[in-house]
Amino acid sequence: MLKWIEEQAARVLDTASASPPLGDPSWDGLLREYGVRPLSQEERQQHVTEGPKRRGGAAPIEVRLALQAIHDKAHASWKQMDIDDDERRLAQKLSSFVDENMRAYLGRVAPAITTASIFANARATTQVYATAGGGLGQMKCAACGAPRKNEGDLDCVYCGGKVS
Ligand SMILES: [Zn+2]
Repeated sequence: MLKWIEEQAARVLDTASASPPLGDPSWDGLLREYGVRPLSQEERQQHVTEGPKRRGGAAPIEVRLALQAIHDKAHASWKQMDIDDDERRLAQKLSSFVDENMRAYLGRVAPAITTASIFANARATTQVYATAGGGLGQMKCAACGAPRKNEGDLDCVYCGGKVS
């Protein structure tokens, strides 16, 4: 099953990275296959405009939901097995599976870093922060760096990472 989850994760990351930001038939089809409801086109557009800058690729939150679906499926069948060393390794792998693959995906779609883009990004972030009404700017997603969108959010709206 280790092989299965690694193959599924590679497929999710490859398909998501190759997808345009608003999705395409192969990404939408893959989400359906995992039983994940895609964001609406409006929501996808909103994530492009307000979320962390990316060079392309599907919305990170959709990638997380697909990874979580793989995790849940593997976890459910693992729980029916007797525990031996192989399964112990699998349990260890599963415990960090979603977060590890989210790091890999966010790295793949991150814009190339130049001094100019750092400042452009800082300006864009400040604008979102300013329109969000102040006071939220200190809270940021540890995974993708987006500022917290709503007061009280514990998980990032854009990628599902922890906000702190
Ligand atoms: Zn995030």
